[in-house]
Amino acid sequence: MKKKGVHSKCVHDGEIRDEQFGGAVSPIYMATSYPFLGYLPKRYPRYFNTPNQEAIGKKIAVLENAEAALPFGSGIAAISTALLAFLKKGDHVVFQNEIYGGAHNFVVKEFVDYGIEYDFTDGVDVANFEAKIKENTKVIYIETPSNPLLTITDIKAVAGLAKKYGLISMIDNTFASPINQTPLDLGIDISIHSATKYLGGHSDILAGAVAGSQEYMDKVFQKGINFGGNLSDFMAYLLERSIKTLALRVEKHNANAQVLAEYLQAHPLIKKVYYPGLKNHPNHQIAKAQMHGFGGMMSFELRSDLDAIAFQKALRMIKPSMSLAGVESTILMPSVTSHALLSAQERAEIGISDHLLRFSVGIENQEDIINDIEQAFKKVKV
Ligand SMILES: *Cc1c(COP(=O)(O)O)cnc(C)c1O
Repeated sequence: MKKKGVHSKCVHDGEIRDEQFGGAVSPIYMATSYPFLGYLPKRYPRYFNTPNQEAIGKKIAVLENAEAALPFGSGIAAISTALLAFLKKGDHVVFQNEIYGGAHNFVVKEFVDYGIEYDFTDGVDVANFEAKIKENTKVIYIETPSNPLLTITDIKAVAGLAKKYGLISMIDNTFASPINQTPLDLGIDISIHSATKYLGGHSDILAGAVAGSQEYMDKVFQKGINFGGNLSDFMAYLLERSIKTLALRVEKHNANAQVLAEYLQAHPLIKKVYYPGLKNHPNHQIAKAQMHGFGGMMSFELRSDLDAIAFQKALRMIKPSMSLAGVESTILMPSVTSHALLSAQERAEIGISDHLLRFSVGIENQEDIINDIEQAFKKVKV
């Protein structure tokens, strides 16, 4: 048989056939107790091997072009377990500067207690990573496109660097989703998701996933059963349901975001737009080469005489929201949320002004999103 297309994979891969009743969807198996008569596998939810956990793991592995994947109870459970599966006391990691706030917090708060060393470096120029590699470096960890400024890191170059020095390369692939980016195809060892975002897609699932070769995933599994960060079967079922429409949703997110980015870029009240699909994005060419689509996330800076809080309040359909990547359009002001703990000067140094808004473009009609922004501009224009 010919290889299936991505939409068919989203709908069908990993599904559990309902042999008993012939139902159209995977049944939910909530059991925490399975027979153990000396034969394998020992099924148990914390072992990531109940029927629904295996089903969702297979689906995510197929989409990531990975040999195996495991579902976790949150993105941070996935990130922390993956990192600690490959690190021990005395090891060193090179991180990209711009990583998800919760991941950054995990590193700076926890690693000291484990005796694990780290450096952060600017990911835009790959030479920065090489400069930070030391004798005890074990892992390089990147996130692209990044949050909130949508910087693009050259995945192939980082994967090549990791191979050259015998390091494990990891990526947080959340913003792209496996529809827009398949990092293992570019040589990355471990791809991680907050499935709370595009994989879930409806702002009602907290989940995570790690994908990689069977050999590496065996290591992640061994740590995973000790840290206990597995996904529940009910959530595994919901996530399977969500991923059936992943490719469909992401195509619409991509199309809407491109139109919105071009509209905002041409708008006199907007100072700057950060979106990898724009030709003037500094790494547009790399994004084009390594992504299958540019995604639904962007940031834009309002003109400095506009009040960014009043603008958000004036929106009717677009919701101010902490999270992202749902079917609904949401907006967030990094200076008072994700980056509130930095001083104004620290924020200015990394390009996060009080007029910067992170925009998660939903799947609504393009003209409705634009109309909402237009009516809000009318209200706040001085
Ligand atoms: C949300 C997010 C995470 C953390 O995931 P949780 O599901 O909230 O634990 C990690 N990385 C990125 C890029 C995210 O957006």
